[in-house]
Amino acid sequence: MAYSDHLTGLPNRRKFVECLQQSIYTSERTGKITALMVLDCDKLKQINDTFGHDIGDEVIKEFAKRVRSSLRKMDTLSRVGGDEFTVVLPELSSEQDAAAISNRIFGAVRKPMYIKGKKLQITASIGVSFYPANTGNMEELFKEADIALYKAKESGRNKCCFNWKK
Ligand code: GH3
Ligand code: MG
Repeated sequence: MAYSDHLTGLPNRRKFVECLQQSIYTSERTGKITALMVLDCDKLKQINDTFGHDIGDEVIKEFAKRVRSSLRKMDTLSRVGGDEFTVVLPELSSEQDAAAISNRIFGAVRKPMYIKGKKLQITASIGVSFYPANTGNMEELFKEADIALYKAKESGRNKCCFNWKK
């Protein structure tokens, strides 16, 4: 259990950090791009307050499934906090590849969820940073993705923002 999240069965923060470091090493060796996505469900507190915490849990699980199904096999989705997830996308040929994947995620997440007889619809916000386009190390990369996520939240949610320094 040291590497996995109890609720979703996904890798946890510890596993995520290892995975990101590994992808950065691979980028250094191959010249391919690593993208880091940070995702946060929009207004999850409202879902809990309206429908209860148990349904909130089911929403998190269903969200995780849908994001996972939008990714390539080599991508790693982790749950790093309450309603916060990361995706490490290794070996991209261009930054545009991450945009395409984020579109797939939005497509999967926006479909209605049917949970315990209730029809729910949720959205999420995404921030993305890139190695090596965003300078620096792993911590920096995470910080940059987080800033992009903050921008996505601030500009109305249900958006993907890229922190793309060239
Ligand atoms: P925002 O759109 O700004 O992200 O609003 P938010 O309501 O999603 O708030 P925020 O992301 O800041 O905080 C996450 C909320 O998600 C807090 C808590 O109510 C809920 N949450 C966190 N972890 C869990 C969990 O394991 N289960 C459930 N049901 N809810 C959780
Ligand atoms: Mg949230």
